[in-house]
Amino acid sequence: MTPAAPGAGRFAPSPSADLHIGNLRTAVLAWLFARSTGRRFLMRIEDLDERTHDDVASRQLADLAAIGLDWDAEPEWQSRQRIRYDTVIDDLARRGLVYECYCSRRDILSAPRAPHAPEGAYPGTCRELTEDQRAVRRESRPPALRLRADATEHTVTDLLHGSYTGVVDDFVLRRGDGVPAYNLAVVVDDAAAGIDQVVRGDDLLSSSPRQAYLARLLGHDQPVYAHVPLVLNAEGKRLAKRDGAVTLAELGTSRAFALITGSLGWPSADLAELLARFDPARLPREPWIYQPV
Ligand SMILES: [Zn+2]
Repeated sequence: MTPAAPGAGRFAPSPSADLHIGNLRTAVLAWLFARSTGRRFLMRIEDLDERTHDDVASRQLADLAAIGLDWDAEPEWQSRQRIRYDTVIDDLARRGLVYECYCSRRDILSAPRAPHAPEGAYPGTCRELTEDQRAVRRESRPPALRLRADATEHTVTDLLHGSYTGVVDDFVLRRGDGVPAYNLAVVVDDAAAGIDQVVRGDDLLSSSPRQAYLARLLGHDQPVYAHVPLVLNAEGKRLAKRDGAVTLAELGTSRAFALITGSLGWPSADLAELLARFDPARLPREPWIYQPV
C-alpha cells in the first residue's frame, strides 16, 4: 500500500538514447514538483525493452546530476524487478482478471468493432474463448496476457489538465515475448516505491486512465498527476536527435540549463531560485518550440 505523506515524485527515463533537452526539462519539472511539495525524489530506469542499454542509462544519470538534480535512493532498474511484475500478474490471474490473447497487431486493427467502441481500444477478440479454442491458438503464437477490465473509461485528475477521462480496455499486462507491459510495470513500480506524484510528458496523458484503473484494482491510491507539455521541433513534431544540438554533450551543461530555465520563464535562475519561485499554476501550458542553436 502507498504510505502516508510525504510520498515521492520520480523521473523514469528509458535508456534507448541520450536524454535530449526536452527530456531534461521534464526531469527538472518533475524534481521541482517533488521538492516544492516536500516529497522525496526517485529515479527509475525503464529498461524492460531490449533496445535499452546500460551505458546509455549511466550517461542519463550523469547528465541529470550535471544539471543539479539529486535523488534520495539508488536508481531502480526495471529489468531487475521481473519477479515483482510476475507476482502481481499471478495475483490478478488468481482473481480471474487475466486472459491470454493471440492477436497480432494486424488482427486487432482488422477486427470488427462495436459501434461505440473507442478508437485504439482492444476489441475483446480473445476475451471469451473456450479452453479448446485457446489450446489451438496457443500453438500458433505465444500469447500476450491481457487484463479483464470491467470498465471502458476512467477519470483521473491532473494538476495541469484538470479532470481527464480516457479509455480503459483489456490492455496488455505481459507481451507475447514475456516482457512485462509498460502500463503494468509503471503502476507496480510506482506503488512499490511509495511514489504518489507522477510528472511526465503529456504524450502519456492518455495512458493515465488505464494505469490509474489498474492501480485501483491493485488496492493502491491514485497518484497526483501532472502531464507537462512536450518540447517540439520547429515543424511542431517531437524533438529528436536529427533536430541538431539537443543533448547535454552537444549543448554544454550551462547552455542547456539556461535554455530550460528560459523556457520556464526565468532565464537566469539557478535551480534553488527556480525551486523558490516554482508555481505549477504559472507553468507554460503550450509546447516549447525548440530552435537548435
Ligand atoms: Zn486477442
